[in-house]
Amino acid sequence: MENLSYKNIRLNLEEINQKKTFLKSLPRSLNVTLTSRCNLGCRMCPVYRKKWELPEKTYDDIISILPYLKCTTWQGGEAFLYPRFGDLLEEIHSKYPYIEQTMYTNALLIDDEWLRRLSGSPKIFFISLDAPEKNLYEKIQRGGTFKEFQERLEKIVSFRDRSPHKVEIYINAVIMRSNYRFVEDFVSFGKKYSVDKIEFSPVIGPPTPENIFNPIDEEALKFLKGAFSEIIESGREAGIEIFSRLPFDDDLICDKNPNENTTGELFCTLPWTFMFILAGGKVIPHGSCKKVVGNVTHQTIREIWNSPSMIEYREKLIANDIRELCGARLNWMELI
Ligand code: SF4
Repeated sequence: MENLSYKNIRLNLEEINQKKTFLKSLPRSLNVTLTSRCNLGCRMCPVYRKKWELPEKTYDDIISILPYLKCTTWQGGEAFLYPRFGDLLEEIHSKYPYIEQTMYTNALLIDDEWLRRLSGSPKIFFISLDAPEKNLYEKIQRGGTFKEFQERLEKIVSFRDRSPHKVEIYINAVIMRSNYRFVEDFVSFGKKYSVDKIEFSPVIGPPTPENIFNPIDEEALKFLKGAFSEIIESGREAGIEIFSRLPFDDDLICDKNPNENTTGELFCTLPWTFMFILAGGKVIPHGSCKKVVGNVTHQTIREIWNSPSMIEYREKLIANDIRELCGARLNWMELI
């Protein structure tokens, strides 16, 4: 029997092709900030300063939408500190084991018991690592020890290598003044643990001594631009995909990952397929989008999915009128 997720994808594709803006299909992918609790206090992270726990009613709403989903992303704070994370995983593994789950984590809480509970479906571990060596790691990712990080990562690597499901390990590195000169070392580290991908993101927010992107530090940017051709090459040689969100290109409209886009005809289809719940409850279509389309503290996921602002995103993309909603110079972290 055809499952609801597959039917939903088919209907969703039909609606995209017909350029519908009010959708009967539901999101295929949900990205959810579960909690702002964190076991670390990273220097540049704005999330843990915003108190947030997914409301029970939104938890129930997510459960009701799970049958239609293809992918989920769980993030925090530290997703593993969300009190109902175990329940959520159990629900998915027992009823919808085909859902691909991505989890953003600093890895430090992932022990054998969690790995046992995580074993029921495909996974991507998106692991925060802002320095691939002890002193800098402990300076930036305050509260963690590099030794423990390496031990946890080894466990996750061994879990990946034994898993009957597809499991991938991505490193998420935030680039700032303290670490930009060591940017090439991430690839050697990634090679050591045979990670699948390394994603580089800019430190964001108001000017601080760590922020080399606001205002732009020309010397740092020149260094990074030079380093990146090497990094991409050494990543290719090591079989590691390199993805950069660093703002090298002033004319960039959106830094969305083109792999997540579903058709060639529209500039972007993510507002037809994706929804992202931020800490605090605001919702944007995708992590690259700049305009809030709803808020789960007083709306349901279904209401937001066809809210006037969500429909506006779809209308503007159909009209190829994308500058205003999709300008690249704002990060979702600045919306929370
Ligand atoms: S900002 Fe625009 S182009 Fe980028 S993901 Fe959102 S809708 Fe798509």
